[in-house]
Amino acid sequence: MKKTKIGVVGVSGRMGQEIVKVIEANPRCELFYPLHRDEKWDSKKAAKVDVWIDFSSPEALKDVLKRAAEHKTPVVCGTTGFSKKEKDLLSQYAKKIPVLWSSNMSLGVAVLNEALKSLSAISHFDFQIEELHHNRKKDKPSGTAITLQENLEKAVQKKLPEPVAIRGGGIFGVHKIYSMSDEEVLVFEHTALNRTVFAKGAVQAAEWLVKQKPGLYQIRDVLFGKNKA
Ligand code: NAD
Repeated sequence: MKKTKIGVVGVSGRMGQEIVKVIEANPRCELFYPLHRDEKWDSKKAAKVDVWIDFSSPEALKDVLKRAAEHKTPVVCGTTGFSKKEKDLLSQYAKKIPVLWSSNMSLGVAVLNEALKSLSAISHFDFQIEELHHNRKKDKPSGTAITLQENLEKAVQKKLPEPVAIRGGGIFGVHKIYSMSDEEVLVFEHTALNRTVFAKGAVQAAEWLVKQKPGLYQIRDVLFGKNKA
């Protein structure tokens, strides 16, 4: 069996280390190009990479996409804190190569984002998103909370208050969506129990993305198919 050769950007980071462990435990994958920060770029080696996984920083994105596009290599990106500039870059490069970006690579959050559609039936309720993360997290609110907010606002067709962000300790990630009326409160809650959940989702996404055409994908497409409900 031919193994999927994976390149990892941000390999010495918290997520990078987790991704290495998941790749090493997966018999179908091979850690082919672990790219360290400020390491000299090896274009010959990069040409043999089947798919890149990038969990680094918004500043790295342009180089990652440019280098991947040179060899038509797909990119799975989990970096958060993107502005419009980086989101435009993702769309621009997705015309040339398959690009999958998700602010949260867990399968549970992908399902949660779908479940939000059902809240359209109670759109007259009040809504509030709350998220909790470890005290080293750079962006606030989390990329996941922003994505949940976008999907929730789409479902209930109204502007909602900013997500409440709490930082402390070693929390991997908790997201809660409160739907509140005078008579009842409904809470959707997702808890990441470790970082492996994001790494497993990213590697699963990478194995899926190598078989796709150029385009912009998200983790939900791995589960539900592109543009399908
Ligand atoms: P980290 O700071 O521990 O690691 C980041 C790594 O990227 C470091 O090794 C750093 O040297 C490298 N890096 C930073 N800028 C770079 C550049 N310009 N070029 C090359 N390498 C560069 O951070 P982390 O906790 O591993 O998180 C990384 C990113 O992933 C963050 O944006 C975080 O919010 C995001 N994240 C996403 C998910 C998800 O499921 N999508 C889950 C967890 C974290």
